[in-house]
Amino acid sequence: MKTKILVANRGEIAIRIIRSIQELNYEAVAVYETPDKNSSHIRIANEAIWIGNGPRSDYLNIDKIIRAAQKSGAKAIHPGYGFLAENADFARACEKNDIIFIGPSSDVIDKLGNKVMARQIMADADIPMVPGTKNLKQGDEGLKEAVAFGKKYGYPIMLKATSGGGGRGIRRIEQEEDLAEQYLIARSEAQAAFNDDSVYLEKVVVRPKHVEVQIIADHTGNTVHLGTRDCSIQRRNQKLIEIAPAFHLTTQQGDSICKTAVKAAKAANYFNAGTVEFLLADDGNFYFMEINTRLQVEHTVSEMITGIDIVRTQIKLALGKDLLFAQDEVQLRGHAIELRINAEDPKNDFMPEGGKTVSVYRSPGGYGVRLDGFCYQGFIIPQVYDSLLVKLTVFGWSWNETVDRLRRCLTNFVITGPKTTIPFYLNLLNDPDFQKGDFDTSFLETHEYLLDYEEDSSEVNKLARLIAEIHHKGENTYAA
Ligand code: ADP
Ligand code: ADP
Ligand code: MG
Repeated sequence: MKTKILVANRGEIAIRIIRSIQELNYEAVAVYETPDKNSSHIRIANEAIWIGNGPRSDYLNIDKIIRAAQKSGAKAIHPGYGFLAENADFARACEKNDIIFIGPSSDVIDKLGNKVMARQIMADADIPMVPGTKNLKQGDEGLKEAVAFGKKYGYPIMLKATSGGGGRGIRRIEQEEDLAEQYLIARSEAQAAFNDDSVYLEKVVVRPKHVEVQIIADHTGNTVHLGTRDCSIQRRNQKLIEIAPAFHLTTQQGDSICKTAVKAAKAANYFNAGTVEFLLADDGNFYFMEINTRLQVEHTVSEMITGIDIVRTQIKLALGKDLLFAQDEVQLRGHAIELRINAEDPKNDFMPEGGKTVSVYRSPGGYGVRLDGFCYQGFIIPQVYDSLLVKLTVFGWSWNETVDRLRRCLTNFVITGPKTTIPFYLNLLNDPDFQKGDFDTSFLETHEYLLDYEEDSSEVNKLARLIAEIHHKGENTYAA
């Protein structure tokens, strides 16, 4: 019997992982909840198991997923990102049931998932980081600690949920007067969202760039990096656009940040693929932020500039193989940019557009173009999951070539039905600051005018949409 691997996820990332499983000549087992019954990941998998009505609760149900793995005879589980990917209990349940968890050990996930504990490990290893507190004490004691921290370092300060993630549980406090109220809200929100009301403080890095490093480690502790990524363009502390390499770094800065990332991974006894995130200040100093113990959405840009299939590598390492390449064999070439094409209305505060039917779907192609998606013409976007429809990743030898290729792809991309981030991205690509690579995490706040665009900003796109709509109507009539 062929080796089977279960994919405990949905959407584009389930498909991305299934592709690598099948290329390794293994069989992919998909799981799904009822709202996903028409999703493509079920169709391309070798086997699909219904795990419940959900929504979300079954993708998050450790027992059900373990049972699905046992029922299908899967030897390993890939958790993707989100859902159970950074859940130490899930990794532990796999370990207990003799199922290989494709990722680091439950022990490492536990430690690194706790931002305060992670900072302690990194401090012990002399990794640079912004000043911060331990978990604030409960009640008024904690508030007093916070006031003292603000007095010492000055405002703004960052109040973070210790168990937070995905851009949630982060509050920027502008002045001491706001502290008491924000402190209480942060605690109760953290309790509700992460089942842990611990919060702590960090000094704010003003207008930083978000620079992260992809690392991969095998079971012998051999650890390499696949270069840097810039993910500064964000909304609500969540990434929208990701770029590899972070090209504004000098060679020396790039080397130094990558070496620091490898050192950080080793300090945490890291195994498999992970990402070390840093904030880069405008004086050139960089500071450790966190380690994400999983595959990331933006891994595709690193794949484009290294030629390394990260998911394939993850699977091989989890099944016990050593790393097949040394650091000096990893060559970084050219540039890659990934855009998250979401069913969202950027003009309406990026409000999700779930529930709508994709009436026309025409995707671009050609040299240096990669699409990771799961939607098709006629697909009804479930309302209950995240709004990512497809990732468009483009490679080019120079930065300008990459931006030009991306613009061409966006003008060729037609999605009708839901509003998407496409017209907004087209506008953004034409912005001189973006073109110069001059952006930090405040980019969207300082470039709000980019949200002022016509829904169909290019003539070509307008025409393409019109033709596509007419054609689509024709198809329907014909079918009837
Ligand atoms: P998450 O676990 O939700 O990803 P992070 O700690 O990685 O949270 O922070 C997410 C984003 O929040 C960063 O990319 C950055 O834009 C902003 N941020 C976090 N900490 C700081 C800080 N100390 N100073 C300035 N910005 C920060
Ligand atoms: P293969 O199947 O050819 O034995 P793998 O697929 O196991 O190789 O390798 C895992 C990943 O590492 C792949 O994405 C591959 O492109 C990459 N890789 C393999 N060898 C090298 C090398 N010498 N230099 C850089 N990358 C490599
Ligand atoms: Mg982060």
